[in-house]
Formats: sequence, C-alpha cells, structure tokens
Amino acid sequence: MIIVMKPHVGSADIAGIKQVLEAKGLQAHISEGTERTIIGVVGDKTRLNQEALLMMPGVEKLVPIMAPYKLASRTFHPANTVLDIKGIKIGGQEFTQMAGPCSVESYEQLDTVARSVRACGVRILRGGAYKPRTSPYSFQGLEQEGLRMLREVADHYGMLVISEITSEIDLENAAQYIDIVQIGARNSQNFRLLSAVGRSGLPCLLKRGFAETIDELLTSTEYILSENNSQLMLCERGIRTFETATRSTLDLSAVPVLKEKTHLPVIVDPSHAAGKASLVGPLALAAAAAGADGLIIEVHPNPKCALSDAAQQLTPEQYAGLSRQVAAICQVVGRSYPAADEAALTAALAQARPQLNGVPQV
Ligand code: PEP
Ligand code: MN
Repeated sequence: MIIVMKPHVGSADIAGIKQVLEAKGLQAHISEGTERTIIGVVGDKTRLNQEALLMMPGVEKLVPIMAPYKLASRTFHPANTVLDIKGIKIGGQEFTQMAGPCSVESYEQLDTVARSVRACGVRILRGGAYKPRTSPYSFQGLEQEGLRMLREVADHYGMLVISEITSEIDLENAAQYIDIVQIGARNSQNFRLLSAVGRSGLPCLLKRGFAETIDELLTSTEYILSENNSQLMLCERGIRTFETATRSTLDLSAVPVLKEKTHLPVIVDPSHAAGKASLVGPLALAAAAAGADGLIIEVHPNPKCALSDAAQQLTPEQYAGLSRQVAAICQVVGRSYPAADEAALTAALAQARPQLNGVPQV
C-alpha cells in the first residue's frame, strides 16, 4: 500500500505516519518529491486501521498495490486449481457438466432428469432443496426430503450432488447429503455463511451476486479460502443491467477476466442468466468458447409444469442436443468432454418423453 500525502505537508506529519506504522511493526519507505511525499508501507497491512490512517493530518489517500484477494489471486498461485471431488476433477483438462432441475419436486422428476443427463456424461446432479424465492408465497423447496432424494438418485446413477444452502443453520445436516454446496446469487456476500462453508471444508460453488463486481466476488472468496478450504469454484450467472430482454445479463467477459485474475475454476450458469430456454443453448456455447471450465444447466422432464423457473429449464431432449454442441466447441478449444452413452440416452429419452404431457402450473 502507498500513502499519498497532500501537497507540501510538513515533516511532522510525515514523522507522525512513520511512527504509527513502526508501532504496528510495519516499515515506512518515504519518498519525497518536489510537491508531494509518498510513503510505501511494507509488512502485514491487516494490522492497520486504514480508516484511522486516512484521517491523520496530511494524508490525501491510500492506494492499495495488491488485489485484496491474495489467496484467490493468480499472482500467489499461478497454476490452475483443479478440484478433485470424490475423483471428479473440476478446472482441469476435462470440461465439467452439472445439470438437473431448478427444484427437486418429486423422486420421479429427479430420477427422469438424472437418468437422461447421466447418459449425456453428466457426473454432477443439481437440484434445489432450499429455494431462495423472491416471494414467500412461492414454492420454497422440499428441504430435507429434497436432500434425501438428491442423495438417493445421485448414488443410483453414480453422480455427485450440488445443492444450494441458504443458511448456516442447514449446513451441518446438508453435509450428510450433498457433495458440493452452492451459494446462490442472493447469498454471495453473506459473509457469515461463506465463513461457515469455509470451516465446513465442503467443496463449494460460489455464484456471483446480481450487482457484484468481479473484484468483490474475488474478495468474497477469501472468507472461504482463509478458513483453509480451497475446494472452491466460481460461477458467473448473469448480473443486473438496464437490459430487460433477458432475466439477467450474462457477463461473458467475466470468464476470461476471472481466468486471468484467479486460479479457481470458473463455471457458467446460462439458465439463470437467460431466464428463457431458447437462449440457454447459445449462451452455453459462448461460455464454453470463452474458456469456462464447465456449465450448470437446469433440466426438467416437463418444464411448463415446473414449480420454479419454468421458462428457462430445458427438456432432457433439448439438453442432449445442447450437450453434443458443447462437445464440439470443447474440441475446438482443446478440452476433453465426456462421451455420451448413446444406448442409455435413447432409453432415457424414451422414458422421459411421455412426461411432457403434464398440465402447466399456473
Ligand atoms: C439456482 O441455481 O437454483 C439459483 C437460485 O440460482 P441463482 O442463485 O444464480 O439465482
Ligand atoms: Mn432456478
């Protein structure tokens, strides 16, 4: 950090700063110019009360030199972090697919989706049990029952479970059912929850908040990483802008920016960004082309009947088509993609198709 002094400050002010820094065990490197003096601070800056420092006589501003996210930064960890969650690697050479319904609604619903996406090569099953709904009158999720179904279905197909936890209170119980904790956009800066997830040691997917800058997202990661939990990946899921044509605006540039700034894996959620099924495919392909390490996509046996996010969920058939296209993009960008089990997929889609006849939820 550099302390920039106001023009023509007296030597007493400079000596005062030096004294404060040295009392905290830091070194002051003073460089006097013709108009201004700047003071370089060397040592552990966390010992400083920066607000108090800013109020000292003669101080104009404090300029941080290093990003506030040391543990997430590539500067301190140049190589990509590759997570290994029960043998499934994320952030390495192979592209990661996560898919499943927005909310777990029933065993049959989850089983149909899991069966079909597993046949496409998906190893990580998503599904919301605790739903962070805008209105308290909307479907809130099956909670404990939902967690139980996720575990059972995932085990049946040899998959991992990713599910959102919205409160620290649910974490310990949820840890018995899920493999990856999702922290959603609404809780991206719920710092006590982030610290608790850090302490839990559970692998985590941290989504970007609706109005969070990339640097803020990276700074939030320190709450998890500083608890000695490095099993962390980030997720771009769209941000709020003036544009209303999509539910959120997918910030595609966040993908290469994050890949430059951090060693952590970067996943893209085109479903919540688009808010509309027809847009999920193009955004997914663009994300894979932009260098994302994986995708998380919502799939429902009968989207029009979904209890949440009906407009944006893909049918198993649509997902299978998209998965083939993503595989082609992966080939172009030099990533491997798990092969589909065509026979299992044909059977799974045949079983899923009749479910498209349900009555829409209005
Ligand atoms: C979700 O993935 O189910 C979800 C609610 O996403 P987000 O937090 O990105 O809105
Ligand atoms: Mn959803």
